[in-house]
Amino acid sequence: MALKNAGKIIAGAAGALTAATAVKAAFFKPEKSEIVDLPEEKVDVLRVQNNLTKAIQIKTVSRDDVDQIDWNEFTKFHDFLEETYPLIHKNMTREHVARASLIYKWEGTNPSLAPIGLLSHQDVVPVTPGTENDWEHPPFSGFNDGEFIWGRGAADMKNHLICVMEAIETLMEEGFRPERDVYLCFGHNEEIVCSEDPGADEIVRILKERGVYFDSVIDEGGALLTVDVPGIVNAYIAGVGMAEKGYCDYKITVTDKGGHTSQAPKHNGLGKLANVIKDLEGHQFDAKMLPFIDGMFENIGKNSTFLGRMLLCNYKHFKPLFKAVMTQIPASACMIRTVTGVSMCSGSPAPNVLPQRATVTANFRPIVGETIADVEKHIRKVVRYKDIEVELIKGKEASSKFASTECAAFKAIDTICKSMFTDRTVVTTPYLVMGGTDSYFYEDICDNVVRFSPFKLAVELLRKTHGTNERCPVDVLPDGVAFFKRYIRIVSKEER
Ligand SMILES: [Zn+2]
Repeated sequence: MALKNAGKIIAGAAGALTAATAVKAAFFKPEKSEIVDLPEEKVDVLRVQNNLTKAIQIKTVSRDDVDQIDWNEFTKFHDFLEETYPLIHKNMTREHVARASLIYKWEGTNPSLAPIGLLSHQDVVPVTPGTENDWEHPPFSGFNDGEFIWGRGAADMKNHLICVMEAIETLMEEGFRPERDVYLCFGHNEEIVCSEDPGADEIVRILKERGVYFDSVIDEGGALLTVDVPGIVNAYIAGVGMAEKGYCDYKITVTDKGGHTSQAPKHNGLGKLANVIKDLEGHQFDAKMLPFIDGMFENIGKNSTFLGRMLLCNYKHFKPLFKAVMTQIPASACMIRTVTGVSMCSGSPAPNVLPQRATVTANFRPIVGETIADVEKHIRKVVRYKDIEVELIKGKEASSKFASTECAAFKAIDTICKSMFTDRTVVTTPYLVMGGTDSYFYEDICDNVVRFSPFKLAVELLRKTHGTNERCPVDVLPDGVAFFKRYIRIVSKEER
């Protein structure tokens, strides 16, 4: 009888909750898209294509070992920019910083206002030796087949850099002058993870010394993705990176007696190491639903179908459920917790020798709010075998703060995307960047660092970044130039 009553109560409560969520979803209407009628922007469509091709042909490859870098290619790239963009080089000052980084400055009409920054990195990752022939068109050809421009850097991020340059050159041709100072900061070694001498760090050091504090900074990191989940949402999601995760590699070593395998004990160093790995993988970091997740679900939810709204707009009631589901899927788990990725192992140097030292290297991506030191504490806590050495190989902390969705840069991205891409709803949403960008260093001299490239790219194409057949669709380039023209017009104003 008691059970029957309990069942009735639970069923009644569930019914009431469902009814409440349905009512809420019904009133949680999609936002009236604030489409502003922005004037057409002139774009030289052929010029941007040709200049991206030329930019790709210059092999600005960065490498861990600086002696292996062909610095002449960076000089060539600087010369190419100078020849290609005469007005920029007439109206902006250009400084060479660190080994091959650049700072451009365009003086605004009101130098008392805080300036804005547009970042791009000039370097690209190398082509993996032996894979050159797998490319449909050679990786440094910049070949334009009318649909795509092929080559290393086509998507990361010479497309972005060239669109910024084209935008400014064209604005200058049209006689535009910004109110705020506009800086272009082009690092030369963004692709080197935890580099010892990042160009971006040196740029920031110099700017800081001069008392430059940016109103906003925009860099790579987010993109415009077509998301079509039948029955839930069909929209362009403009993901704007408002912060980025950290990075660290830890090497964990187990020492043992070693000896001959003919007299091997039941467990040797490698066996003990296997338990270390099991403990690391079996004890993931706690998941945290940071506030940007609320914003993300709310924004997508508002623009989804009734069913989508039922789920997403009531997300706060179902937070534990969302958290549980998200931690099961690697693509969403990385947004809510520090990720552990065990990647390299070593034992003894020969098949008949027992290891004296067995090591495992694990890569961790700390979420905002957790530090490299927290990772070491976690390792020491979860690994039950305590006789281990834990060594930090290299690391970079996560962002210390999130940019605000109220900042001019975020609002401008939202307005421009909604006005430019009108064939489906645009949902602009904050998110956390999983990798690293040069903009990380700018958090020291700017509160509003946003990461976004205005290119509509299919997920399959995004996956080619850093890989074979990296390429950029030619039809996204004019959008890129128009986007940056509009962005500079809006964000460089005093009042936005
Ligand atoms: Zn990049």
